Parts: sequence; C-alpha cells; structure tokens
Amino acid sequence: MFLKGKRALITGSTSGIGLAVARALHAEGAEIVLNGFGEDSEIAKLREEMSADYSNANLLEAPAIEQMMADAGDIDILVNNAGMQHVSPVEEFPAEKWDAVIGLNLTAPFHTTRLAVPGMKSRGWGRIINTASAHSLTASPFKSAYNASKHGIAGFTKTIALELAQTGVTANCISPGYVWTPLIEGQIPDTMKARGLSRDEVINDVLLAKQPTKKFVQPNEVGALAVFLCREEAGNVTGANWSIDGGWTAG
Ligand code: NAD
Repeated sequence: MFLKGKRALITGSTSGIGLAVARALHAEGAEIVLNGFGEDSEIAKLREEMSADYSNANLLEAPAIEQMMADAGDIDILVNNAGMQHVSPVEEFPAEKWDAVIGLNLTAPFHTTRLAVPGMKSRGWGRIINTASAHSLTASPFKSAYNASKHGIAGFTKTIALELAQTGVTANCISPGYVWTPLIEGQIPDTMKARGLSRDEVINDVLLAKQPTKKFVQPNEVGALAVFLCREEAGNVTGANWSIDGGWTAG
C-alpha cells in the first residue's frame, strides 16, 4: 500500500488498459479518479469497487479537460491513457478523424499535463505516465494519425521529463504491443468474416504476426509496470519509453 495518500487520475479508465492501471494503483492504496465513457451502471460499479471519483469529461474538448482537472483535486499520479485509432490510406484519411486521433492521443495529454504539473512541482513529487504504443517506436501502414500521435507523445514525454528533472516529478511512456482488451476482442469476428479466417488464424496470423512471443500483453501487466514507475526506486527513471510488446520492437 505504498501509494496511500497519493491521488491518481487515469484517463480512459472505464475499459481496457486504463481500467487495469486504475485497479493496480488502487491495490497499492492510491485514491482513484476515473474518466471515460460507458454505461452508467457499469461506471457506478467501478466507482464502488475502487471508492473512486469519476469525470465524464470528453477529452476532445479543452474546456471539459480544464473542468475535470479543477474538480479532480491535487493529482500526484497522472496517467494519460485514453486513446483512439482510425485506419485508412493517407490520401483517404478523413481530416476530422486526423484531428480526433491527434486531439485525444496527443493534445489531451498536453492539457492534463500542463494543468497537473504546478501542483506536482509544489508538492515535490509526481508521476506522469503516458500510454503510448509500439507505434511510438515503429510504424504500420494506414495508421498515419495514430503513429504520428504516438511518436508525438513519446517526444512530449521526453521534453517534460527534462523540464521536470529536478522537481521530484518523473514522466515516462509505457508502450504496449497488442493488449487483450475489449477493443481488440471485438475486432476478431469482423476480421474472421472479412478475411475468411478462423479465430485462431486471426489471432496468430493477423494480430500476433508482429509479436514474437505470440501472446497478447495482458492489461494487468501494464498495470504492474505503471505501479513500478510510481515507486520511490523509480525516481531516476524518467524520459523513458518502456516497451511491453512481446519483443515486437526488438525485431
Ligand atoms: P479501450 O477502447 O478499451 O479504452 C479506451 C478508453 O478511453 C475507454 O475508457 C473510453 O471510454 C475512453 N475514451 C475514448 N474516447 C474518449 C474521449 N473522447 N474522452 C474521454 N475518454 C475517452 O482501449 P485500450 O485498448 O484500453 O487503449 C488504451 C490506450 O492504450 C490507448 O491510448 C491506446 O492507443 C493504447 N494502446 C492500446 C493497445 C491495444 O492493443 N489495446 C496497444 C498499444 C497502445
């Protein structure tokens, strides 16, 4: 329970990776502020499970982010995790999708960070953890906005790590490969249909083709890495981009 007395805001924490990170930080005693969309009843259950506060802020809207940060109180651990994808050749990429992907994956973390940093600095302790992606280190075709946003968040993270280096505040990226989340699971039936493949073929030949371990990263493994980054022993870990991708970016 080494995080007792610390307050953590995790964006996009009603599902998938963000939810696992929230649970992992809660298990170490952190007070949790959840954010993201979902059924009211599901969100109520999550709030009860973690005695958590919750913001329904749409992170595509800067004023909503400002309101969320004002309501959230003193945030010691900021996990910028909410993200979205759009897959399309660049010449057909809808401009509004480009804006949305960059807005959620890159601009929203800028806003939450600029608003959280003054309090962290004044308390002399803080952790900023950005969920980037293997796509912050390498690219795949048809994901121009996503790859740009994830490379961008890696550069942003390095910059703030340098700016905050002597303040007790660290900033790091976690870069997962394919993680088993509802988002990925939901793509399997459509991909089976579109490609005429079995479930196993979709998993092994499409999704895990790039992941040498041939295993999905599990959300709780990302949670465990986030917990490590919050430890005192991680105080000199800053500006890093931590791969958790089954060896994808080693190749
Ligand atoms: P997910 O779809 O399961 O969760 C996304 C979360 O973001 C949800 O809580 C959703 O409600 C919230 N969200 C979406 N739009 C929002 C908005 N406008 N405002 C506020 N909240 C919003 O996705 P996930 O797979 O858990 O992905 C989480 C992060 O991990 C993303 O940044 C994603 O790019 C990254 N990532 C995922 C994988 C993967 O394989 N799943 C791999 C690498 C990186």
